[in-house]
Amino acid sequence: MGLLQLGTALDWPEAQKHADQVRKWGIKQLLEIWNKAKTKERDALLWGDEVEYLVVTYDKDQPKSLLSLRQADILDALANDAALAAQGGCTEGQVDGASTKQDPLPVFHPEFGRFMLESTPGKPWGIELKELVNVEPNMKLRRVIAKDHMRSDEFPITLTTFPRLGFPGVFSDPHYPVSGPKLRSQFVPDEIANPHIRFPTLAANIRTRRGRKVQVNVPVFRDINTPWPWKDPTVNYDLDKYPEDADVRNGAAPDNYIHMDAMAFGMGSCCLQITFQAKNITEGRQMYDQLSPLGPILLALTAATPIYKGFLADTDVRWNQISNAVDDRTPEELGEVPLKNSRWRIPKSRYASNSTYISTDPRLRPEYFDPELVVDEEIKAELMQGGMDERLATHFAHLFIRDPIVIFSEDLQTLDLSQTNHFENLQSTNWQHMRFKPPPPDNSIGWRVEVRPMEVQITDFENAAFAVFIVLVTRAILSFDLNFYIPLARVTENMETAHRRDAVLNDKFYFRKNLFNARRRRRSPHPGEGSASGTSTPNPQSRPETPVILGSVEDEYRPMSINEIINGTHYPAHGSAAPPSHVTDGEGFPGLIPLVESYLDSMNVDVQTRCQLATYLDLIRKRASGELWTAARWIRSYVDQHPEYKHDSAVSETLTKDLVGAVLEIGEREAQGAGWKGLSVPGIDKLMGDFRGCGGC
Ligand code: ADP
Ligand code: MG
Ligand code: MG
Ligand code: MG
Ligand code: MG
Ligand code: MG
Repeated sequence: MGLLQLGTALDWPEAQKHADQVRKWGIKQLLEIWNKAKTKERDALLWGDEVEYLVVTYDKDQPKSLLSLRQADILDALANDAALAAQGGCTEGQVDGASTKQDPLPVFHPEFGRFMLESTPGKPWGIELKELVNVEPNMKLRRVIAKDHMRSDEFPITLTTFPRLGFPGVFSDPHYPVSGPKLRSQFVPDEIANPHIRFPTLAANIRTRRGRKVQVNVPVFRDINTPWPWKDPTVNYDLDKYPEDADVRNGAAPDNYIHMDAMAFGMGSCCLQITFQAKNITEGRQMYDQLSPLGPILLALTAATPIYKGFLADTDVRWNQISNAVDDRTPEELGEVPLKNSRWRIPKSRYASNSTYISTDPRLRPEYFDPELVVDEEIKAELMQGGMDERLATHFAHLFIRDPIVIFSEDLQTLDLSQTNHFENLQSTNWQHMRFKPPPPDNSIGWRVEVRPMEVQITDFENAAFAVFIVLVTRAILSFDLNFYIPLARVTENMETAHRRDAVLNDKFYFRKNLFNARRRRRSPHPGEGSASGTSTPNPQSRPETPVILGSVEDEYRPMSINEIINGTHYPAHGSAAPPSHVTDGEGFPGLIPLVESYLDSMNVDVQTRCQLATYLDLIRKRASGELWTAARWIRSYVDQHPEYKHDSAVSETLTKDLVGAVLEIGEREAQGAGWKGLSVPGIDKLMGDFRGCGGC
């Protein structure tokens, strides 16, 4: 999240009148950045992570664990201390040898939920592989610093969602009544959102634009005692304060679904994000495309979200819930009624999987593009007139089909081309699973790519492992010029697949079979194509073009299990004696971890670093093979074995408290660095194995 602007935020009917102006000005700002930064070269390969936390209260002598709404106080306290530290007035402690004396202090940011925090390292990480071992200590340090600025009964935890969010009485602060004017939710109060005017306005304007409340319905997990058909017992059909209260009477809460009705149920979830800086725009565009097909795989591997509003869900990840929680599409855009006032039907929410490929890579075939892509042709033409190539212009003209949701009236006076506020207004409310970030106007930073699908993990060991894994995969992509392209429509399907319970073990994902096909030279132009500019005149020095025979796109990929994708075809799935069928079919796949290992073999890595990296890769290898559980599987199992659980899908207050207690115990043990052996948390050995750093190397 960027800096929070002060000003007068417009309500939807007013904001809508200025949507075109904001888009036009945003495009002018984008062209300004583009022209300044398109030739930017030799930026360093930097990267950084973002970890999001819930702030909960816990006291083993109290009956409940609650959500704290003290984000603002905690952030103020953190900012004050950071300011003191900057003046040399304060030094933070050391955690696991992570010296904070020379490194800038971690940075904490607000998030949508008033019960959330986000942290980033004080400065991005560099290209050196040995720096990768500093990530985990830095994440641990952040947790210590965050905790130091909380009350003694408050704790930062990295569960993706608070299990009972939406039940009455889950907040530690004075009770706030639900059904406030902004969210109009029957389950959560307006006070749940960060009080900065941007957030309640975002939620209210999404609802108004949509014409009804957002609808977040998650299939309930059917256990042996779950009444069936299941009716969400928390839905109030009699409430009649706002027109939107009729939504549930009009079918918004179908049988067998947990029903939620506010942005907080989605944007109140915590994730782990990684941002890379590329050396130039070409490399940035390549990274954006090549990492995109990995998104659903990463989502399924990090699955950590099996409970909503006090009930076990039949899905394992947060993604679609966020997608629905910010879906501002009108009934016309949704295709429910014929188009009249809206400009087009839009197949996806503004929070959804990627819809564009943007690279200049000649291996990018037209068949890979999304056939359903909606673009604003006028905007595309304007970008191309401004010098942008068609492919990138298409990407931004797609993002700009949306309306700006929060507009500050102060911004509408003059267009400042040295700023990016209007561009960012659209860019930062298009929440796809990758984001392509242009340099800021002062060009101090390069072209960046953000990886956004992962669920946050319970421990920093796991969060560091996934962060490091993505970094290494990215290095392998660049080093071996790997090709992960599959049609975007398949990536979208994979994203759905990733939601299924235990998709990591039981489901197959479309994945490219051959990652190594060399770049093909550009095909020769069709008659008349491109000849006016002269750019396609064959270079007489080069060898004559041999026409490339491309096979069918459908033959380039096949469904694979996550175990195959991560570990390769020759690695057995946990507990299965039979070799994977594809080995005998001649359809072997090398696996991402073996590729990363080849990359590491080709680099000069010191023994200590290599050993630490091996523990991270081992965690991921075992999660993929089923030897270890995802957090989602562990939480389900924790609920299942709890004496209070009645096998009716309901997660009680006591159970929630005990689950939070278990998570805190795991965190305490992690801080001690002693490994997991002997910890009395049920299932800990299946979640974490027996990792304890690389003491054994
Ligand atoms: P947002 O919330 O918009 O995604 P944040 O500022 O919260 O942005 O996080 C950005 C991430 O990018 C942080 O991890 C930060 O360390 C990292 N970062 C900052 N500058 C660079 C850079 N030049 N190259 C790569 N990563 C960077
Ligand atoms: Mg951030
Ligand atoms: Mg953000
Ligand atoms: Mg965030
Ligand atoms: Mg978030
Ligand atoms: Mg981010």
